[in-house]
Amino acid sequence: MPVKNRFAELLPEITAWRRDLHENPEILFDTHRTSALVADKLREFGCDEVVTGIGRTGVVGVIKGKTDTAGKVIGLRADMDALPIHEATGLPYASKTPGAMHACGHDGHTAMLLGAAKYLSETRNFDGQVVVIFQPAEEGGGGGREMCADGMMDRWNISEVYGMHNWPGRPVGSFSIRPGAFFAATDQFEIVIEGKGGHAAKPQETVDSTLVAAHVITALQSIASRNADPVDQVVVSVTAIESSSKAFNVIAQRVHMKGTVRTMSKDMRDLAEARLKAISTGTAGAFGAVAEVSYHRGYPCMVNHVDQTAFAADVARSVAGDCTDAPLIMGGEDFAFMLEERPGAYILVGNGDGASVHHPEYNFNDDAIPTGCSWWAGIVEQRMPAA
Ligand SMILES: [Zn+2]
Ligand SMILES: [Zn+2]
Repeated sequence: MPVKNRFAELLPEITAWRRDLHENPEILFDTHRTSALVADKLREFGCDEVVTGIGRTGVVGVIKGKTDTAGKVIGLRADMDALPIHEATGLPYASKTPGAMHACGHDGHTAMLLGAAKYLSETRNFDGQVVVIFQPAEEGGGGGREMCADGMMDRWNISEVYGMHNWPGRPVGSFSIRPGAFFAATDQFEIVIEGKGGHAAKPQETVDSTLVAAHVITALQSIASRNADPVDQVVVSVTAIESSSKAFNVIAQRVHMKGTVRTMSKDMRDLAEARLKAISTGTAGAFGAVAEVSYHRGYPCMVNHVDQTAFAADVARSVAGDCTDAPLIMGGEDFAFMLEERPGAYILVGNGDGASVHHPEYNFNDDAIPTGCSWWAGIVEQRMPAA
């Protein structure tokens, strides 16, 4: 089964949906126009059930096969949200909303899953049910977590879930995947160093919070280099630092830092959090300052299930002829929450050369649509063959 002919026929229509979504980006849970558009399309296709408001602005559609003897239900998930980035592509269908942009290709993901839903509604050449899942707020809001918290998996009795992301820098329409840990757990921290401010010419009368912050930042790099097993993955990045002093001649009372920790296992996540707190408070204490640390756990590590990954790779090979091994990715992905509830797999589809995701010149590549849609259809038709 290479690319399905029907998707070549539908390409202009799916491309038009994609560009319309691109022109009208919506951020986090505010995907009101997008969700309404998706729900309207699903009803127009003749889905057996369309439900809005799952996970606030998420949409779920159900498509029943010609038969349903095995009682299997496959969930296919796309994300719908854009990013708070000001678009710089100069495209004729560039964002009409200043400061918002589909810079991660979720416009393409939504359009491809709509295309697959249209095809599956037309053909129904499978034994079981398909649940198409359109989630808001992948970019930091945990829309996937919210849809799960609304009881989506049990309500529709979903047995397996699959997800896909476009990937710039890989040939258009090529696939890559890996079993096990794939995307990192993404945590955030804030550290406030409280010293004693004063005149910059009289440092002996102060506790210099800026000097303490510098030592803390340096010492935090020993988590990766000295605490972690060198064969495991961990990133600790201090990304923002702000001093309470705005002057050349004032030693700051306080320094505020922010950053992120990325890990690929629960043990490493626990270790990084514990060491970050101990290093910050201990280092500050050694200088006579006080460090207050707040640590927020974000998306968990996204783990592909072994059997479903092998199956997803087989389908990818049947569509594109090949499916390569993907590297570990230290970015986060809130499909992780769905894979914690049900077995499934997440695959990357090549977006060709061009700007990377989250760049103001990024654009989803419409040439990937036929292969992406064919993979969705293949997941359904090969996992639940018609009786
Ligand atoms: Zn993104
Ligand atoms: Zn994304």
